[in-house]
Amino acid sequence: MCYTPPMPPAARLALYSLLVALAVLALKGTAAWITGSVALFADATETLVHMAGSATVLASILYASRPPDANHPYGHTKAEYFSAALIGAMIAAAAVAILYSAWNAFVAGNRIVEAPTGLAVTALATGINALWARLLIRRGAALGSPALAADGRHLMSDVVTSLGVLGGIALAAATGLWWLDPLLAALTAVGILWSGARLIRESVGGLMDEAPPPDRIARIEAIVAEHGAGGIEAHDLRTRQAGALLFVEFHLVVPGAMTVADSHAICDRIEGAIRAEFAPATITIHVEPHGKAKREGVSLR
Ligand code: ZN
Ligand code: ZN
Repeated sequence: MCYTPPMPPAARLALYSLLVALAVLALKGTAAWITGSVALFADATETLVHMAGSATVLASILYASRPPDANHPYGHTKAEYFSAALIGAMIAAAAVAILYSAWNAFVAGNRIVEAPTGLAVTALATGINALWARLLIRRGAALGSPALAADGRHLMSDVVTSLGVLGGIALAAATGLWWLDPLLAALTAVGILWSGARLIRESVGGLMDEAPPPDRIARIEAIVAEHGAGGIEAHDLRTRQAGALLFVEFHLVVPGAMTVADSHAICDRIEGAIRAEFAPATITIHVEPHGKAKREGVSLR
């Protein structure tokens, strides 16, 4: 199926985000190249990691937002877990590469050259990142795109890392404590490894239909209890999250003599209430007569 929706504003912003990251990467790469600093190399890699993150956001906004089709009747929202897991693995590999170069630089006693130029170029790149991060956080909130806002916050944390690296290199250049450079590179690598591991962990959870946090299930049960008047009980509630899309299913026990129309009205009311809070959501309710009550789950009277 070839469905090409018009590019939503959030997707356009994610695309610009990639271009900004590309410019920042060029600046930081140049700074690392001029100075021979492994910490600046690690900082540039952090930007590469961020680009991978922005690409996932863009892909998830574009591909995952496609409506269900004959080939994917449950939608495409899980696609983002695949790209996120792949990116997580690449991030982990990048972190190992940085650790390796940091160790080599430490053993060789590498000294930084042209520190002022390298610091100035990195400071410029960091300034661009800070401005863009602020814009992403604001626009993400305005457009109701948590993915964009999260991307902005990630970028802001990169800015903080970069400031730490800048301070450390300035100190190393001023004092001649050359080992500060590989030390900072190693610390940055550990941070990158951590974000890669978390990305893989979250993606596997999504692909395996891991249960959502208990407070979310409790909230859904509370909504069912609040809007299930006329029913007897709701049990066997299961939910799973597929990217932005929430799936909810449960059994609704009603009096056996209730008409189909009346029980359907209860279902519609509950579905509307869940969707009002958790849109987009796909909700399936199995209606049963009172003999099927288990005296567990959510009591509706
Ligand atoms: Zn049942
Ligand atoms: Zn219906």
